Amino acid sequence: LPVLAIVGRPNVGKSTLVNRVLGRREAVVQDVPGVTRDRVRYRAEWGGRPFVVVDTGGWEYDAKGINARVAEQAEIAIELADAVLFVVDATVGATDADERIVTLLRRSGKPVLLVANKVDSPRDEADAATLWSLGLGEPYPVSALHGRGTGDMLDAATSLLPEVTAVGGPMPVGGPHRVAIVGRPNVGKSSLLNAVTGTQRVVVDDFEGTTRDPVDELVELGGEPWVLVDTAGIRRRVHQTQGADFYASLRTQAAIEKAEVAVVVIDASSPITEQDIRVIQQAIDAGRALVVAYNKWDLLDEERRFYLEREIERELVQITWAPRVNFSARTRWHVDRLARQLDAAIAGWTTRIPTGRLNSFLGELAAAHPHPVRGGKQPRILFGTQVDTSPPRFVLFSTGFLEAGYRRFIERRLREEFGFVGSPIEISVRVRE
Ligand code: GDP
Repeated sequence: LPVLAIVGRPNVGKSTLVNRVLGRREAVVQDVPGVTRDRVRYRAEWGGRPFVVVDTGGWEYDAKGINARVAEQAEIAIELADAVLFVVDATVGATDADERIVTLLRRSGKPVLLVANKVDSPRDEADAATLWSLGLGEPYPVSALHGRGTGDMLDAATSLLPEVTAVGGPMPVGGPHRVAIVGRPNVGKSSLLNAVTGTQRVVVDDFEGTTRDPVDELVELGGEPWVLVDTAGIRRRVHQTQGADFYASLRTQAAIEKAEVAVVVIDASSPITEQDIRVIQQAIDAGRALVVAYNKWDLLDEERRFYLEREIERELVQITWAPRVNFSARTRWHVDRLARQLDAAIAGWTTRIPTGRLNSFLGELAAAHPHPVRGGKQPRILFGTQVDTSPPRFVLFSTGFLEAGYRRFIERRLREEFGFVGSPIEISVRVRE
């Protein structure tokens, strides 16, 4: 999905604006269920157009050097966005810190909408007009607190975002498949990247249909070309203390969204952490194919291997469908096994079940395991169809609401029957009376 970043110096009302954007009745906020919730990215929709809002508020309070940090943090958020809402406090006017952000915005070349906040009444509009001086064009006067002017502002903001058709974001078609290597710091992402780019011949990048950013690398794995996306983000060490996790998470998200399949690298030599799980969840939420790669296998003794398997059973039961590679970037042991699992995940992710087969499967399933009776009624599945691939999405028509446990049961059986290795699948239910 296109990303709209909200930037501005502290206290201009960024978070209030985010709440306003998300809280309006017309703005549909999707509460994405998951292991953990990412508090900084929100799905929103305006005028029928879905997008992601990135809120940089709440990460800016730092005892020392607030202003220096603001610029640094805004820079990364801007880099990752498709369009930027730059929020200025109209009651204060343009400050030096605002000017610094303007410089960053100009350099980025990203489309920007200048939002003059705290224009609570018509007589404050003169304040907003002074912000023409920032040279970013027309300031949109709003009151994030009262909602004044936010509708017009959102119309303008969404018109700056690129069009997308499919859920899950714009996906380049044709050419080599796109892979994101992600994971928390120090799990061995750059070591894996080096192992992959070092041993494999880097193929010439004139494959037909390949459009790639300079930050992407084309490699050959298992005899096939693959695009490793956002490798600059892996190679470049971002030294940051304040908000480092936050920006790492944004980068991860950006890489995942550019890719078809995410390789989540985990350091198998130390306990699985919540951060590992969060990265996996990001890939699932983005609807990407998933391969889980356990690195540093050279460090594992028998005891650690035992505990690792227990941790996987405990923490990662919900992704038993994801192909797994145990490897060592250091010794290059099993690095060559990655390609096979990537292939498997892409195959699962693009699987399409013919409607006839799906319905005979659903018919048998429902006959053998009908939905439990609820309130004297028993919902019955009438018909199902796969409406999409990459990832596979199903719509089931039913005579009543299917409870979550039953939907999970259907998902499990679908996987047993049809595979979908390495791919999240989505099932939605439409009730027909
Ligand atoms: P990144 O932050 O995920 O890119 O992690 P790095 O690739 O920088 O690796 C972090 C640390 O783990 C470095 O000290 C690496 O040398 C070490 N490391 C990476 N892969 C392996 C491995 O397979 N075995 C061992 N023993 N150490 C590794």
